[in-house]
Amino acid sequence: MYVLSTRKIIQIGIICRCKLIFIFKGLNTIWRKHSQLSQLTSQLHHSEIGDILENSLSGKRPEFEDCKRLLDSNDVHVMGLVAGYLTRKKFGRRSSFVNNMILNYTNVCVTDCKFCAFYRPPGHEESYTVTLDQIESRVKAAWEMFGITQVMFQGGHNPSLNIEYFEEAFKLIRKKFPSVGVHGLSASEIDMISKVEHTNTKEVLSRLKEAGMQSIPGAGAEILVDEVKKIISPKKISSDTWLRIMGEAHGLGIPASATMMYGHVETIDNIAEHFMKITRLQEKTNGFMAFIPWSFEPNNTLMQKQETVQYPAGGTQLLKMIAISRMMYDGLIPHIQSSWLTNGVAMAQMALQYGADDFGGTLLGEEVVSCTGSRSTELTGAKIIQAVKQIGYEVEERDNFYNVVKTY
Ligand code: SF4
Repeated sequence: MYVLSTRKIIQIGIICRCKLIFIFKGLNTIWRKHSQLSQLTSQLHHSEIGDILENSLSGKRPEFEDCKRLLDSNDVHVMGLVAGYLTRKKFGRRSSFVNNMILNYTNVCVTDCKFCAFYRPPGHEESYTVTLDQIESRVKAAWEMFGITQVMFQGGHNPSLNIEYFEEAFKLIRKKFPSVGVHGLSASEIDMISKVEHTNTKEVLSRLKEAGMQSIPGAGAEILVDEVKKIISPKKISSDTWLRIMGEAHGLGIPASATMMYGHVETIDNIAEHFMKITRLQEKTNGFMAFIPWSFEPNNTLMQKQETVQYPAGGTQLLKMIAISRMMYDGLIPHIQSSWLTNGVAMAQMALQYGADDFGGTLLGEEVVSCTGSRSTELTGAKIIQAVKQIGYEVEERDNFYNVVKTY
């Protein structure tokens, strides 16, 4: 007969206790997940938009009428639960960011958007255009000090700048700093260059791609409804032109971001139409890498002076827009950005839990939004990492194409 020694009995006891703790922890996790899901299910049943949210959970994106109901609803918390769930399913508890700078190469502009505090008309004493030497020294400084992997090139519609200025700038950046990607120019800047050069936008895109332009930011979309554009930016390209140029870029293999500027004169119908127009283009081209909803900052703008808009849309609206963006583009546009630039770091932390997966960029040197005087418009990578870690998420530094370059 085999007799167990006291030592063996204690060893078996310890192993059994460890296994029990392990099993208990496993059951506890399953129970917590189950409990979270049943809490979510119960909240969905009580929500006026429960049917749309349940569809989202089962992989069906909201249609135009659903989108309007979401925008009209105050059930932002439940939208966030669903959008956050969809996001974590794909990305886990993780956020990416890009170490980048914005190069606002000129503030000269002839388009006079009423929401813009940045531009100056040609000949104005505060107008400027950055030279190629200045471009090189600014990129060099940001690359050496912060290891940037992206330059976002953004400026006014300056009729004195021909395509060679941009070609030389992009070639210079790509040759001297090969690890730095060029994100720019926006569809409306492309349109301006085509007018200066008396050529078409496809030709401009093709030449700029050849010179090193790798991707296109979404600026100039604002709200893709011409009745809105007539009020806030009557001289800017139409909605169809923005969509056409984006389609041309995608066709040439240039990916892009899509944006929406909300919180001014637009209606719920207008926002839903904007979402749907981007959906339709993306279904055809699959060229958008990210969607960024950002709120209008009225400070120092003509729209504030004319009392069209007095104050920004605020935090609750941001969370609603982030959550709706995730649901509208789930499985269609991979990344949703947190919009920290106009809403601040604390709201960006919330946005990551309401459907965003990308914090955005460090935006060194940003000048456009800073002209509204609303808040500091640049961060360091260290501050973004800290902000993301504070909410218990992992951090991935990415490049221009959302490839991971480093994890924290
Ligand atoms: S938003 Fe752009 S296009 Fe409009 S006025 Fe400002 S710089 Fe010019």
